[in-house]
Amino acid sequence: MAEKGAHLTGTAYIRPSIFEIIAQESLASTLEPAFKKILSFLVSFNLEKYGHILQWTDEGYLIFNVLLQRYYLKRYFASFSETFYGLKRVTIINSKTGLQEKLSHKQQILSLIIIVTFPYLKNKLVQLSSKYKLQNINNTSRKKRQKFFSKYVVKGLSILFVTYETLVLYNYILYVSEKSIYPSLLLRLLSVTLTYADPQSALTVTELLRKIKYNSFTVFDGWNILQRIITGSLELGAFFLQFLSWWNQENYDMDIMSLPAPPPPKVPNVAQQYKGICPLCHKPHHIHTVLMVSGYIFCYQCILSEIRIKKKCPVTHYPAKEDDLIRLYIE
Ligand SMILES: [Zn+2]
Repeated sequence: MAEKGAHLTGTAYIRPSIFEIIAQESLASTLEPAFKKILSFLVSFNLEKYGHILQWTDEGYLIFNVLLQRYYLKRYFASFSETFYGLKRVTIINSKTGLQEKLSHKQQILSLIIIVTFPYLKNKLVQLSSKYKLQNINNTSRKKRQKFFSKYVVKGLSILFVTYETLVLYNYILYVSEKSIYPSLLLRLLSVTLTYADPQSALTVTELLRKIKYNSFTVFDGWNILQRIITGSLELGAFFLQFLSWWNQENYDMDIMSLPAPPPPKVPNVAQQYKGICPLCHKPHHIHTVLMVSGYIFCYQCILSEIRIKKKCPVTHYPAKEDDLIRLYIE
């Protein structure tokens, strides 16, 4: 019996409060913008050379997130943000007695897949929706079927988003009213819930000194300390992130996360040449559209096909994508 019960954890299941659940979710959602902000800050030192990296920020974050979450799931049986709020993932075997079980290897892998791919796919769908919205607004002469298609993609996606948010809210209500043990839809999908993590036994300074004194300090201890330094600084960073997003929410007029504004550049001679005309067709603009990365104005049709093929500004050669186009309402 004792062998059979070895995988069961001793402590009973205690339901974390809804505030901890929401706080960890909001921390998880601030990680991505923070990563992108840091990346764009680093790239801004040499925009011409490394600017193309910015096209792949979503994928860059995906890789970073896989490594981060894999480490936390393996070590703490929880995602990064769950660990930060002292929570861990468990399976409830008996909801009456609160008997719980550690995550199995399969559940760890499934958890990782869901934690990582869900925000990535959601982000891609939001981008897709806004891209089609922009196309609908610009209303250029495209085929009727294409127009119909993009209109229904936008509608379908917004229905999907609203349904998802409603289900999330419904799930919170079930959780708060103790009708469900699953604090989120994704956890429900995995039949996994959250509870308080056991306190971690950390290597204390006295223990460390004793180990060094008796020469019993191993490579494993060193690795342990290094891991603690890395995760500790990540967690400290996460704390500051939470603090900053709270600060920004409080409606203070300045945005601390924003980079200092550089002085405006001198107007180059080429720009004078394109005054009032489109740099691509050399005719007066038809549907004024500005390319955000360079500031040049083109006809919508001219620049759209150019960006789709070459993915850069035809005048300055700065890397650009369709999302960088802004319709100007001059007339
Ligand atoms: Zn043109």
